[in-house]
Amino acid sequence: MLYRKLAEFYKEASENPSRLKKTEILAKFLGEIHESDKEVLYLLLGDIYPEYSEKKIGISSQLAIKAISKSIGTENSEVVREWKKLGDLGLVIEMLKKKKRQATLGKSDLTTQKVLENFRKLPELEGKGTVEKKLSLIVELLTSASDIEALYLVRTLIGDLRIGLKESTIKEAIASAFFSSDKESAKKIQDAIDRSNDIVKVFEMAKRGKLNEIENVSLEIGKPIKVMLAQKAKTIEEGFEAVGKPCAVEYKYDGFRMLIHKKGDDVILFTRRLENVTKQFPEVVDYVKKYVGGKSFILDSEAVGFDKKTKEYKPFQEISQRIRRKYDIEKLREELPVEVNVFDMIYYEGKSLLNEPFEKRTALIKKILKDQRYKIIRAKQLITGDEKKAKEFYKQALKDRQEGVMMKNLGSIYQPGSRVGFMLKIKPAENDLDLAIVGAEFGAGKRSGWLSSFILACKDEKSGKFLEIGKVGTGIKELAESEGTSFEELTKMIKPLIEKEDGKSVKIKPKIVVAVTYQEIQRSPTYNSGFALRFPRFTALRVDKPLSEITTLREVEKDYEKQKRNFRYG
Ligand code: AMP
Repeated sequence: MLYRKLAEFYKEASENPSRLKKTEILAKFLGEIHESDKEVLYLLLGDIYPEYSEKKIGISSQLAIKAISKSIGTENSEVVREWKKLGDLGLVIEMLKKKKRQATLGKSDLTTQKVLENFRKLPELEGKGTVEKKLSLIVELLTSASDIEALYLVRTLIGDLRIGLKESTIKEAIASAFFSSDKESAKKIQDAIDRSNDIVKVFEMAKRGKLNEIENVSLEIGKPIKVMLAQKAKTIEEGFEAVGKPCAVEYKYDGFRMLIHKKGDDVILFTRRLENVTKQFPEVVDYVKKYVGGKSFILDSEAVGFDKKTKEYKPFQEISQRIRRKYDIEKLREELPVEVNVFDMIYYEGKSLLNEPFEKRTALIKKILKDQRYKIIRAKQLITGDEKKAKEFYKQALKDRQEGVMMKNLGSIYQPGSRVGFMLKIKPAENDLDLAIVGAEFGAGKRSGWLSSFILACKDEKSGKFLEIGKVGTGIKELAESEGTSFEELTKMIKPLIEKEDGKSVKIKPKIVVAVTYQEIQRSPTYNSGFALRFPRFTALRVDKPLSEITTLREVEKDYEKQKRNFRYG
């Protein structure tokens, strides 16, 4: 397929903000994709492989700038100057191509196969001369591209397509392109995408009109799926109202989500971000082999840190380095041990358990897992319909230094990637948000050369836009002590994400998620969310949380309203 067709689709989709219109345009485009071009769908989502693959394009803005200047035959400084004005490297190359009369509009014969071929070589390169080799692969594409093609090539490279296409739109578009666009087939398509995490696979079946094949798409070991997420409840009473009586009440552990896949002798561990962390947790691999029976299974769990001497549980931020650190693993494993608390099971001996009731899934865990404290163990659970007992259990969870409890409906299925109303989390009222860093400022004096103040954003769930909500610099000194995240390290993480510089301030591509506490939320015209945080403070770097799970504007509004009520009556 000609890349031009894809670029034209991108353009049309970005010019039509309405979701309905976008779905219509996409359905038409999908109908025109030949089966042999099915991998175009990865590009469509700004990717080169299925979502679960670890091979990502991963090009920094800095490298993209070099590639642009080389392909145009201009200085880096000119590209940077234009970038500061336009704030988007895609627009920069489009403009420069037009200006230098390099445009081959309508004439380019660049194909999507060629684009995928070159892009797929990028994550494979290692060792000496990597940067040069990457540059030449990119420059080859950019020089043969028309101006609009170059715009989208660059945006894909830096992971910022800006066409506002959501996975749910794709699901609806596939349904309406190949089946009557009824809700039922859209649901089947969504389920198949959830189970396989591979849009191309589902597209292929849809194109052949095989709804029955789509229904049978199953989980596969080694291919992580998105985890099921919980909604919030304020009290145990409210929890029972939502999930019914009796229900399962479980400890809500303050660690990080770990998905455990096992097939034969292979054990693979994933975070909720679908990142493979098997190498970082060799002891967990051993525990699984030793203490869990069965040839093939997928377990859902929370790994919690504990003090090796006192055996007291530790909060998440104190063990987060275990996820990030790729060296000194043996030493870290000794110093920061984790206990794996298994709370769900979604696959067993060749069969998916997604549609089995929760009660049955947990009963199976009991059958195959030999509980080993401080190694691998079933999450503490109480099945009850008694409010008093549930409240005592909640108190005990807090005494044991955990965050609170989860309340789960006994008959419910496992719904990947959704925040469901049949699994609830209950924590003591705490002012706690997960936000994305979208900008920063260089410090002065002792901190000059480092970014020392960070602009935070929540997400508008309707438009998908990041909306600013405050600025924070406090809490990092403490973080440096507990988990080793210093100003220096944050600066290093942020620099490759810089999109725009203005004096001491930079705007960055949202990628880093942080947990923040605050004293109060106020209405404020200063930030485009309409809210500002009073006395915000960093509590953790959430390396395990994807951007899609940060606090939404709606949740901020809710917290604001709740706090107003509390002030009034409390
Ligand atoms: P949150 O991250 O605040 O949305 O809370 C939900 C998270 O709690 C899940 O994603 C898990 O990582 C974690 N969690 C801890 N204990 C449990 C449990 N017993 N069942 C389910 N999730 C748990």
